[in-house]
Amino acid sequence: MLKLFNSLTRKTEEFNPKDANNVKMYSCGPTVYYYPHIGNFRAYLFMDNIRRVLKYNGFTLNGVMNITDVGHLTSDADEGDDKMLVASKRENKSPWEIAKFYTDVFMADAKKLNIDLPEHIVPATSVIEEMIEFVKVLIEKGFAYETSKGIYFDIAKFHAYGALSGMDIREKLAGARIEVDDEKRSPYDFVLWVKAPKEHIMQWPSPWGMGYPGWHIECSVIGDKYLGEYIDIHTGGVDHKPVHHENEIAQSNCHYGHQVVSNWMHLEFLQIDGGKMSKSLGNLYTIADLEKKGYAAEDFRFFYFMAHYSKQQNFTFDALDMAKNTLKSIKNLVKEHKTGSAKVDTAGYQQEFLDSINDDLNMPKAIACVQKMLKEERSADVYNAFIKFNQVLGLNLDEEEIPAEIKELAEKRWQAKQNKDWATADAVRAELDAKGYVVKDSKEGYEILKK
Ligand code: AMP
Ligand code: ZN
Repeated sequence: MLKLFNSLTRKTEEFNPKDANNVKMYSCGPTVYYYPHIGNFRAYLFMDNIRRVLKYNGFTLNGVMNITDVGHLTSDADEGDDKMLVASKRENKSPWEIAKFYTDVFMADAKKLNIDLPEHIVPATSVIEEMIEFVKVLIEKGFAYETSKGIYFDIAKFHAYGALSGMDIREKLAGARIEVDDEKRSPYDFVLWVKAPKEHIMQWPSPWGMGYPGWHIECSVIGDKYLGEYIDIHTGGVDHKPVHHENEIAQSNCHYGHQVVSNWMHLEFLQIDGGKMSKSLGNLYTIADLEKKGYAAEDFRFFYFMAHYSKQQNFTFDALDMAKNTLKSIKNLVKEHKTGSAKVDTAGYQQEFLDSINDDLNMPKAIACVQKMLKEERSADVYNAFIKFNQVLGLNLDEEEIPAEIKELAEKRWQAKQNKDWATADAVRAELDAKGYVVKDSKEGYEILKK
């Protein structure tokens, strides 16, 4: 029996999809205005984790993830500039070029992390027509109204507003700052469609003139288009709970007149050295940054398994080293078991592994079970059980040998370094880099890694 924690009911519940064996799952995707960092990827490893555990339990999946390429302002609550336009100015490119570039970066990193991507990956700009139709319905049903600036959702009409994050909207309203936009009925009414000034680059025709969508509407509309009016699981980071997901619930439930998402799942944040990740602190790492420091993307994938998703996870390079070393020893043991001849009954381990992942994705416990099993006498039975578990872990077991040519280059570089011939050492490093390899030096020598 698979049990998952539902943020909406605040309970760990037995998971049963609405439609027999087929799970409909929606995941809030990236805003493609900058390089995704490892915190963002914790969110997508979480999505991968759920998908693989569902499949391990025999469910089939219809998964959807949006790509935000319009409408996400610098504040989640409708303030500031569109992040895409900020990036467009910063890089002197069109917002469409920005979206293409960072979507490609995201997909390449996701591939390196072996993330099991959803069946549908949908850019917000591909559903503008559907968004307009959806907003029209909200207006017709009396849940939205027009001002000189755009179309707003009237939160007073949705009594359950705030239920997900446990906020009392009446209390919040009483303490609200002076409203800057006196056309809005309540300060917490949020924008569905923005009337665009002439100079705004991204805009589309609508019944309300030229404009562009608010950020939240894309998730309701993409969910509706690809999954329909009942969604079993919706994922995202905890930061999305109080604004983005409250707004999404309000839009979707009022559109249909019933609850659309039954199970909300939220991932706690990745912290860096015990604090927030930020560009100004210089501690915002990407997968490429980790690679430059000699780690493989998979080391970060394994690092994800070391904490439960509902707890903050603290990133340090010591912890990443630990993940990397544990991963390496696991892989070495798996190789030894492959040719082992002992007979081992793995039924107990299989049950323990299943119980751990089905206990609201308890990956630290599942990994402990794997490590215990690998201590058994070398046995193909253990190897076979591990291969099964690896459907959830998604580790790459058939790494090719480092080619001789690469080994020679690495050695040449090492010798050049010993001779303090830095120019040659740098040139060879660049050559290795172009061929897809990095070398990591230590006191004892060097290690060659595939990028
Ligand atoms: P964004 O691209 O800003 O829309 O964020 C993409 C995803 O990354 C969202 O689900 C966020 O909740 C998540 N996210 C952002 N920062 C972190 C972090 N430090 N740790 C975990 N998830 C994060
Ligand atoms: Zn979303």
